[in-house]
Order: sequence, then C-alpha cells, then structure tokens
Amino acid sequence: MARDLALRCACGTVQGQARGVTPRNVRRVCCYCPDCRAFLNHVGAQSCVTDDGGADLVAILPGRIEFTAGHDQISVLRLSKNGLLRWYAACCGTPLGNTPAKPVPRFVSVPRALFADPDADTVLGKLKAIVNTAQAPAGRAPPKEFGFPGFIIYVAAGHLASVLGLAPKNTPYFDANEKPAVTPYVLTKEERKLASA
Ligand SMILES: [Zn+2]
Ligand SMILES: [Zn+2]
Repeated sequence: MARDLALRCACGTVQGQARGVTPRNVRRVCCYCPDCRAFLNHVGAQSCVTDDGGADLVAILPGRIEFTAGHDQISVLRLSKNGLLRWYAACCGTPLGNTPAKPVPRFVSVPRALFADPDADTVLGKLKAIVNTAQAPAGRAPPKEFGFPGFIIYVAAGHLASVLGLAPKNTPYFDANEKPAVTPYVLTKEERKLASA
C-alpha cells in the first residue's frame, strides 16, 4: 500500500512529504562518487555519509516530493558550472536532493536521512544498488558494486511515466519556466578543493 512519508531536515525547519511511496516506486542506492562526498562535506552533513564513505540515497520521482515548511531555507549549489543541482536546507545543512540541471530527465536522489518516519525503511525497501565504488575513499574497503543497470532502467521508466502523464509532474525544485526554483550557487575552485579534502 502506498504511503505518504514525512520529510524533515535535521533542525525541523524544512518539512515536507514524499507522496504515494511504495518499495516499487523508489530505489535505494548508495553512491561512492567523490562529488557526493564533497557536497556532504561542504554543507556539513557528514551524518549522511556511511562509515565507508558512501552517500545513502533514495531515488524517487521529483513529482512525489513536496516541501510544506521552511521554503526560505531551501538552497542549491553546484560543485562546478555543469554539476548536478545539489539542494540543501541552509538552516542546518541537511541535503534535500540531487537533481539534473533541468526538470528533464525527471529524477531526484534524496538522502535517506531526510525521511523522518521511524518505519520509513519498511516503505523504502532494501538497498537496490551500490555504485561508483571504484571512487570510494582510499584505505577503506568498498562494498561490491551492484544494481547499476537496474538503477538506469528505474530512472528511464520513471521518466517515461512522467512524460506520458502517468506520474506526478510538479516538483519543488523547478518553477513553471523549468528554471531552478532557487538560483544555484557555484562553488569556487578553493571551496571545491576544501570540500574534496
Ligand atoms: Zn534545518
Ligand atoms: Zn555520487
């Protein structure tokens, strides 16, 4: 049965929900790419990094996400000029999702930590993919990579459903003109270097 799951930043200022979630329409993924780590470092969200350096994420259609409080704290940055839009709550640094630079393809990966319901794991399902392990931090044994093809199929299927009008369309990340809802800040080279250290 589909559930609406509560979303809450660490300090409780930004709140919202993920609507109509079932284990089949979301996909848990752990990403070991250095950009995910650099972003989490920069916003001070080390609690979203697993012990071995992964980012614990839930892929979901952005149309299922809604923010209901703390809109003025919603911020977005890019690690470089062409990087993903990495959304976060300015109040406490909690990540609010990674999206492409445009509303299409329709995709967002939200940190697992944003889901506030104590039983969220039963709705979000098991970890379905571990990706980019070749870029895991040196000196820590990365887990075995799996699930990448399934992940791509998931993203493509969700996108197609959206295009065909079979999935929720409006998202909190983009406005009606398909521009990011907040102007992205691009990290300086120095900031990026610091975040990647
Ligand atoms: Zn907050
Ligand atoms: Zn990543």
